[in-house]
Amino acid sequence: VDEFELINRFFDRPVTTPGVVTGIGDDGAVLEPEPGRDQVQVIDSLVEGVHFPADSNAADIGYRAVAVNLSDIAAMGARPRWMTLALTLPQKDAQWLADFADGLFEAAAEFDVALVGGDTTSGDAVVATVHMTGEVEEGKALLRSGAQVGDTIFVTGTVGDAAAGLDLLRRGVHDNFLINRVLRPSARIDMGCSLVGRASAAIDVSDGLIGDLKKLLDASGVGGELDVERVPMSDAVKSCFDEADRIGFALTGGDDYELCFTATPDAVEGIADITAVGRITDGNELVCRQDGDIVEYEDSGYRHFQ
Ligand code: ADP
Ligand code: MG
Repeated sequence: VDEFELINRFFDRPVTTPGVVTGIGDDGAVLEPEPGRDQVQVIDSLVEGVHFPADSNAADIGYRAVAVNLSDIAAMGARPRWMTLALTLPQKDAQWLADFADGLFEAAAEFDVALVGGDTTSGDAVVATVHMTGEVEEGKALLRSGAQVGDTIFVTGTVGDAAAGLDLLRRGVHDNFLINRVLRPSARIDMGCSLVGRASAAIDVSDGLIGDLKKLLDASGVGGELDVERVPMSDAVKSCFDEADRIGFALTGGDDYELCFTATPDAVEGIADITAVGRITDGNELVCRQDGDIVEYEDSGYRHFQ
């Protein structure tokens, strides 16, 4: 398949999302923003051999390429609207492309995000870059920098599942829930939207709770205390791993795509599926406590070019 055939066959699907004046097929997409809303622009690349093994299921790669961007949109409190895709491919068969596109459109359909353009190139390894635009009420985007001394630190859902799932995958062990958390991460879009006007700061947990919480603290110019025993973990992780392993996964494992945010408890009253795990201090570092005692954890968040 040549480039044009490929785009037509696999990526040019009918669009029903509002605001798309002109989608795939012209030199650029023409999009109509909602009045009174700010745009949030995010981009994330998945590189074969770095973010996924070469033999990964193509549908999972497509799904993930969208999901990681949705997660950044969620962390800003925005609603996703449109995306573009830059895809670099070695010779790939039609089946691979069909599967990749299915995964990509599956993730996009969950939040009615339209694919409105892209670029297709050949290269030595698969690189899938999705750029996504979201919208949020003017001036209301959730930033990393708004945490205030005295705020409570919260986490959504459970953390450590993806790292635990990856560990199981590597050992050939199967647990549907945990492996699904790695292969099909689901972004917290609705949660992000309901935190707008309530949370003081937010970040998504992609590199591990400690590493990402530290980024939030740095951006806000504050310190924090994390109560390790309060960090929410799934029953699946508890049943498959001992305490030391699961704390390692929960604190330093990445890819959970939950949200970590700060707020006063009053501001988030009534919001389900969140857990208070610590507090913002006037210090300049993150202190982890386990049952009151200070403990050291390595922030092993993955860094490129290191
Ligand atoms: P140009 O030469 O003007 O950059 P292209 O020939 O690269 O345009 O692309 C033709 C159309 O197909 C454009 O609308 C572009 O946005 C879209 N497109 C190209 N690659 C992809 C892709 N992988 N997914 C979605 N749309 C794509
Ligand atoms: Mg052009």
